[in-house]
Amino acid sequence: MNKAYLLIGGNMSDRLANLEHAKKAIVLHCGNILSQSAIYETEAWGFKDQPAFFNQALCLETSMNASNLLSTLLTIELDLGRTRTIHLGPRTIDIDIIYFNDEIINNANLTVPHASMAERNFVLTPLTEIAPTFIHPVFNKSNSELLSECKDIATVYKKIDI
Ligand code: AMP
Repeated sequence: MNKAYLLIGGNMSDRLANLEHAKKAIVLHCGNILSQSAIYETEAWGFKDQPAFFNQALCLETSMNASNLLSTLLTIELDLGRTRTIHLGPRTIDIDIIYFNDEIINNANLTVPHASMAERNFVLTPLTEIAPTFIHPVFNKSNSELLSECKDIATVYKKIDI
């Protein structure tokens, strides 16, 4: 079995319902969710003039390899009606693979650990809640350390406890 950490998030229509739909689809198609963080609200990153995001980190146990997991997650995003017209703009649901075991993957479709995770409070805050001691295999630092060193100034509010 493989263990993956995912970040799910979105800022369009019913943000909570979209996270719930994404988790149901992940359980149906990918594996078991072993743990999940609270839901956090974060001001938009990048393209600022848009609603705040809800984000949640998940620990997933899956028999899929990373490539199959990615393509399944992309299909789930499309099924949930994701449309993307503006780069870094509003979206119904975004599902990112943050870690896949302690593997380092760099190919045309997939970068794991996720390329910009260590620069973003909205990833590190929920991730640290469920996996504070997990070590980033490239930086050789725990999620807690990455969060305490992160220079991102965006505020991440705990919105809904699970
Ligand atoms: P975005 O939805 O804007 O985050 O970008 C999605 C695209 O990023 C997908 O088509 C993937 O091929 C690519 N990608 C690269 N690394 C990752 C990752 N770790 N998790 C999710 N998507 C990734």
